[in-house]
Amino acid sequence: MKQRLVFLGPPGAGKGTQAILLCKKQGLLHLSTGDLLRAEVKASTPLGLEAAEIMNKGELVSDSLVLSIVEKRLSDFNGGWLLDGFPRTLPQAESLEILLKQIHQPIDAVVLIELKDEVLIKRLLARGRSDDDEAVIRHRIQLYKEKTAPLVDHYNKQGLVNTIRGDGDIEAIASRIEESLK
Ligand code: ADP
Repeated sequence: MKQRLVFLGPPGAGKGTQAILLCKKQGLLHLSTGDLLRAEVKASTPLGLEAAEIMNKGELVSDSLVLSIVEKRLSDFNGGWLLDGFPRTLPQAESLEILLKQIHQPIDAVVLIELKDEVLIKRLLARGRSDDDEAVIRHRIQLYKEKTAPLVDHYNKQGLVNTIRGDGDIEAIASRIEESLK
């Protein structure tokens, strides 16, 4: 089983749900930059205060800010991990590569979860997080297409991408993912 993973996919594709299941089962460290940022916001840290406004507008927080969050947690960790919501831009992917080279921990696989826009929007509206207002959702999907989707090509060139259909029930999707990582 591959141990160092990146989950890619649009907002609402189910990355978080699947990441939690897989990490529990395989004992991987789950690093969700969205969750980590929301924890900073809740604790009203300087970093959280900086991020809150940006997140509520559906914009991306700065590359340096998310990188500092991830770096702190990966640098002195030796087990398997799953990155969920990071990298989200090409500069983030490049910084991650430099970090992973330094710590001798290459990415084993990238899991891309795909789902149609209509289904994404429906799911996110039902979730109702503070950044799940329809206009903000559409903006996040647009940003995904502009900034994050190019990472698929980037990782395809390295032969790392497993594409998974994100429709159907949670267990079915989980099995597709596990099958792809054997
Ligand atoms: P989603 O369900 O939209 O994928 P996330 O929980 O992954 O939600 O992220 C929520 C918000 O946190 C994003 O819209 C963005 O503002 C911020 N964020 C999370 N990860 C990153 C990242 N790697 N780079 C920049 N901003 C991020």
